Amino acid sequence: MSAKDRFLFYSDFNCPFCFALNERILVMGDSAKVAWRGIEHMPAASSQKSTLVDQTQLINEVAVVRKRAPEITLVTPPFRPSTRFANQLLFALSDCESHALSHLRTLIYRAYWQLGRDISDIAVLQELCQDAGLSYPAQIDAGAASDALDVWQGQWAGERFHSRLPAMVAEKTDKALLGFPTFDLLSSFFAGSDMPDVPESLASCEMKPKQSVLLVGDGVEARCDVTELKAAYQVDYVKSDSAAQQWLSEQSCIPDLILIDTHILAERAFKLCSQLRSNRVYRTTAVIMLLDAPDAERELAAFDAGATDVMFDLSNPKVCQARLDMHLRMKRSSSLLSTLARVDYLTELPNRREYDRKLEDEWLLGRRAATELSVVLIDIDHFKNYNDNYGHSMGDDCLRQVARAMVQCLHRPGDMLARYGGEEFVAVLPGTPLKGAVLVAQAMVDAVRNQAIPHAFSSAAEVVTISAGVSTQIPDTQSIPLQLGQRADKALYEAKDNGRNRVKSHV
Ligand code: GH3
Ligand code: MG
Ligand code: MG
Repeated sequence: MSAKDRFLFYSDFNCPFCFALNERILVMGDSAKVAWRGIEHMPAASSQKSTLVDQTQLINEVAVVRKRAPEITLVTPPFRPSTRFANQLLFALSDCESHALSHLRTLIYRAYWQLGRDISDIAVLQELCQDAGLSYPAQIDAGAASDALDVWQGQWAGERFHSRLPAMVAEKTDKALLGFPTFDLLSSFFAGSDMPDVPESLASCEMKPKQSVLLVGDGVEARCDVTELKAAYQVDYVKSDSAAQQWLSEQSCIPDLILIDTHILAERAFKLCSQLRSNRVYRTTAVIMLLDAPDAERELAAFDAGATDVMFDLSNPKVCQARLDMHLRMKRSSSLLSTLARVDYLTELPNRREYDRKLEDEWLLGRRAATELSVVLIDIDHFKNYNDNYGHSMGDDCLRQVARAMVQCLHRPGDMLARYGGEEFVAVLPGTPLKGAVLVAQAMVDAVRNQAIPHAFSSAAEVVTISAGVSTQIPDTQSIPLQLGQRADKALYEAKDNGRNRVKSHV
């Protein structure tokens, strides 16, 4: 096999999507063509420190993989290990014969995803090496391995994949595959055939970067020792309030926690805290004020300025670290909860609440810009009959497939498709006149019908179909967004009355 026939697989042992993809590649007998590019999608992962939030995330990912790949057996492991050693080991062995390497890779995946073993433990890796018939290297050059791994990490984080897993590239054709594909897609990919356009986000797992902490104040690093936190979090220092503003304006990510030392900055520290609090961008950032000593008046002033908490310089460094750690864990739980609250679990589309929020925002924007706003309400035809005859589990699969087909018909960044409830969906199309919205709706009707999901109990067709109602207006002060939705609903019922599997509109 020449290098050009290789398929580069950017993957991480602690990602269940990558495990499942590796299993599928094995079934297809193509594993020898696959060259490993080990990356870390959770750089802070550690089997020693698994929190409830980590576990919730893990349970969710496992549940998605079980639905997408029911043929693969996997357990929910009790923790998420660091995969750095395993990646360094595979890099050190990269000159070995490809079947043996592929066998070792599979053994590592299975040790974690089927037996729940700690693959960050060197003793476990040594044992797996032996099982794969490979000798564990006498010495691993961690520096050389890290340099190579950093290059792969950079490639994976770049333009092409934007830090999403699993990801593959065919060296010969330079074609890429992102996400967890079906057997059909995978086989077209290995055959070098043209790939249909797949909605990547439906089946990929994003990088979860380290949480970040910004310490503000001259000498703050000495006054608040965060040595231990540095392993798990990204920690940065700036000396003054103005340097903090400058630093924040240059970053693309928002810190999870900002600690402001009042020792030298005095009143300027309190001012910085209020400025951060009045900026929507830092709404969810924890802002902690470090005071010299307990002082009721200063503490109240800090809370008045919007601080999340106060700490005192007299605290033991371990107590300081524990406190910051607690705030960072709370921040993670609330981010996870807010994501779960916005997404419909079954279809992974935004939920009804997100639709309400989006419609409200786009209404106000459309009113200011005097541009047309369109809404498409969609309902699956005879879905009760589908459920009653094929069962709820097939019904759920059908909902997911229909969602997938429809989401591919939206191409503009401002467009949104949400699950409205039950078997109803809604699309919000900002800046789109009626004619354009009807075209999008018709594309969705066609895309669902072309999926050809058998439905022997529908009067509309022999396959699953949808009906869509479209409504458009330039938002004004005389009406409310609800009326736009009501007109789309009316149009939807006309589509149902006129035989289903079609689009109707109402202005
Ligand atoms: P019409 O063509 O007039 O829309 O007929 P219909 O049968 O689709 O309409 P109806 O509103 O009577 O039925 C909706 C059915 O959708 C009821 C229920 O069986 C099914 N349903 C709603 N939510 C879910 C879900 O989350 N999972 C599954 N499997 N079925 C659901
Ligand atoms: Mg309905
Ligand atoms: Mg229906």
